[in-house]
Amino acid sequence: MDVPERDGSPTTYCMYIDGESVPASTSAVREVRFPYTGETWATVPEGGPADVESAVAAARRCFESDEWQSMTATDRGELLHAFADELETHADELGRIGTLSNGKLHREMRSQAASLPEWYRYYAGLADKVEGRTLPVEEPGTFNFTLREPYGVTGAITSWNSPLMLLTYKLAPAIAAGNTVVAKPSEVTPVGTIRLAEIASEAGFPPGAFNVVTGGGDVGSALTSHADVAKLAFTGGVEAGEAVGSAAGGRAAPVTLELGGKSANVVFADADLDAAVAGVVKGIFAASGQSCIAGSRLLVQGEIHDEFVERLVDRAEDIRLGDPFDEGAQMAPIVTEDQCRSILADVERGIEEGATLRTGGDRRTVGPCDRFVPPTIFTDVDNDMHVASEEIFGPVLSTLSFEDEAEAVEIANDSRFGLAAGVWTGDLQRALRVVPELEAGVVWVNTYRRSSYTTPFGGYKRSGVGREKGQEAIDEYLQTKSVWMDSDPGVDDPFDF
Ligand code: NDP
Repeated sequence: MDVPERDGSPTTYCMYIDGESVPASTSAVREVRFPYTGETWATVPEGGPADVESAVAAARRCFESDEWQSMTATDRGELLHAFADELETHADELGRIGTLSNGKLHREMRSQAASLPEWYRYYAGLADKVEGRTLPVEEPGTFNFTLREPYGVTGAITSWNSPLMLLTYKLAPAIAAGNTVVAKPSEVTPVGTIRLAEIASEAGFPPGAFNVVTGGGDVGSALTSHADVAKLAFTGGVEAGEAVGSAAGGRAAPVTLELGGKSANVVFADADLDAAVAGVVKGIFAASGQSCIAGSRLLVQGEIHDEFVERLVDRAEDIRLGDPFDEGAQMAPIVTEDQCRSILADVERGIEEGATLRTGGDRRTVGPCDRFVPPTIFTDVDNDMHVASEEIFGPVLSTLSFEDEAEAVEIANDSRFGLAAGVWTGDLQRALRVVPELEAGVVWVNTYRRSSYTTPFGGYKRSGVGREKGQEAIDEYLQTKSVWMDSDPGVDDPFDF
């Protein structure tokens, strides 16, 4: 398929079910627009519960088929390697699709697309390293060992901000572990996921191994509540995530939830301040703040607070807003008009609550797009203000001051979220004291926003359940069977306890 261009008539994409491109059962379609120009560049089917039904049935047929069941773990690893090879040849296309869908900088989406193969190769390598254990039991001649088995059909529901990475965190370990997958991408960014399924098929995935149903939240709800979906993985906001968790919990299906955050970036007076300024800017303004790990609460030690904020504001005001395809742009537009309004409403609320707006906070127009929010920095923030307690998912930084380590930890942890945290200090002993105290699933020391397929990722508290990435992720897609065997089966006394 050609790389979609920015001009010209929209390309029609179909859902992908049972190895075939199919329209929605309703024949309804949805337009996909490039956030920067507003132009419609693609249409996708607007699926519904009936399409979920077909996709889950296909995934189940595939899972139960002789073809799938006779594949060894090494075979599945080879399948993932073949998929990685195919993806390499489609990296440019997927990068463009990424930017056309969510409007994020092409530099970021291109780099994400180019990195996908290495994620699949990592899980390809892990596929045949899944092992059970032999366990000591008291009775002589009796053995216990464990088998690690896939769940069967798994559901993957993803958000729009990094759609193919977020899907890959689920798809790669799920397939490596021997499951089949039904994915439901965000309605804002469906095309990349459709293309991934088509490419997987070209790489040799059997029909039904990886299916995609496009549509809105009702598709997500149908997938979540489907009795044949044995395991769910969700990335999105807390509200939808908790609905998914409740629905899955109601039928005892396990879930992995990757939800929102309000992560604290803590700068001590002994930090390298140049590095800390750059790290704080990267933490909140990269991706225009549309990032679950955004370091959206800045905690600065009192003695350097004013100087640090001055330097930060100067740096933030230099950031270039622009066309996401412009290689010189540093911040792109906000994904949708609704999201833009929501960010600006949160800014208003911060002002009403008494925080001081140091820079930004308005709507800007660049080229054809009036949906830019510049880097926005609040000071004089209390931790119970809305701008400090709620995820804004935009380029808005709330700055608080602390006096000592204990207060820094107390403020950082005073949040219902616990996804990430940053610590900036030149004192190794301090870092080692503070890191264990922080209630966050990932902590960066003197860096921020680092990620690798080898390292586990997930949230404490309301930021999530379970872990993606790293070896931990494959465990999320396996259940353990405990097997007892008696080498000398005599006739047991049934009442000998
Ligand atoms: P949403 O929660 O709105 O949507 C996420 C996905 O869930 C979408 O595909 C959505 O469908 C679907 N969905 C919505 N309601 C339901 C439901 N009741 N049942 C099943 N599925 C449903 O999040 P956004 O897409 O707006 O993404 C932003 C959020 O994602 C932020 O809170 C961010 O922090 C979080 N996020 C977390 C990450 C992490 O790893 N922890 C990484 C990236 C983002 P549709 O869009 O079609 O309505």
